Amino acid sequence: MMPAEQRVYSYSAVLMGSPILLKLFEDDQHAAAAVFRLIKQQENLLTVNRAQSQLMAVNHAAGLHPVVVSQSVFDLIKQAKAVSLLADSCFNLAIGPLVKRWKIGFSGNTVPSASEIQSLLPLTRPEHVILDPQTCSVFLQQPGMEIDLGAIAKGYIADRVRDELHRLGINHALINLGGNVLTVGAPLHGATSWAIGLKRPFGETDATIGVIDVVAKSVVTSGVYERYFEIDGKIYHHILDPKTGYPLDNEILSVTVISDDSIDGDIYTTLLYGMGVEKALNYLATIPHIEAIFVTKHRQIILSSQRQFKFTLQDDSYQQL
Ligand code: AMP
Ligand code: MG
Repeated sequence: MMPAEQRVYSYSAVLMGSPILLKLFEDDQHAAAAVFRLIKQQENLLTVNRAQSQLMAVNHAAGLHPVVVSQSVFDLIKQAKAVSLLADSCFNLAIGPLVKRWKIGFSGNTVPSASEIQSLLPLTRPEHVILDPQTCSVFLQQPGMEIDLGAIAKGYIADRVRDELHRLGINHALINLGGNVLTVGAPLHGATSWAIGLKRPFGETDATIGVIDVVAKSVVTSGVYERYFEIDGKIYHHILDPKTGYPLDNEILSVTVISDDSIDGDIYTTLLYGMGVEKALNYLATIPHIEAIFVTKHRQIILSSQRQFKFTLQDDSYQQL
């Protein structure tokens, strides 16, 4: 048996419909319970389909009246709106009505008719999300509008978990929120960095094509294989193009972002996805604190740079560029 001081302690739960894994270097049930409690609380505030959800309250009042939310929820919505309003942004916090109609990954998937999509698109305009910092309230101007923070909730929550771990005096840990990985410090013993697997698109659950080595970084992946359905050989996945109302369609199968904060990783995976590889690489050249790994339909792995991580390819059916 390994000496106690060499052991890794893993705690798991299923929250936000995803497996959650916490790794610590000492057995600390109290810390694990605090982390899972925090995730649950945040999930209740930020996801739709929850009675206590502040987001749900905002959505229910669409076209009727503003709803006062907590400062942290307000700030997150404000950030999401700002990203949605960037020129040519593929991120849209008001995408809710389309996400709901497509129901991708849930039973009863059908492709909406073109006229249905056309009728929903006007309900997804980010400029119709009205924020009042004085009253800390959010108002959706049109009836039927819905905010969906599904693309960034996990990243935001992962950062809150890191804050909580630091508050508890824990400086070496890993939290995996259904694929959003955030590493706190370096591993306390064994390797000097954390090894995070890069998933093989459409592979078995644990199949990877390579390893990403990091210390104190967030590693977030968005992939078309995460949630999709297939009709007549065509794949309809869960990341929608706010301009067309259909799933984004380009050469990318997955985007992984390496950054300090997980909220950035979560925002940029969607933004970069929408840009396509070439534009994304040009864009990344201007923001050195964000780096990305693209896996394409042509079995290529493209890295923007490798300053904050090291990537090792393990699957030779893929080609690293
Ligand atoms: P992620 O797993 O972080 O890539 O986020 C995917 C989720 O984001 C989807 O399941 C939707 O809830 C939501 N979503 C889909 N398309 C968009 C979009 N264009 N902008 C913002 N959120 C989106
Ligand atoms: Mg995301």
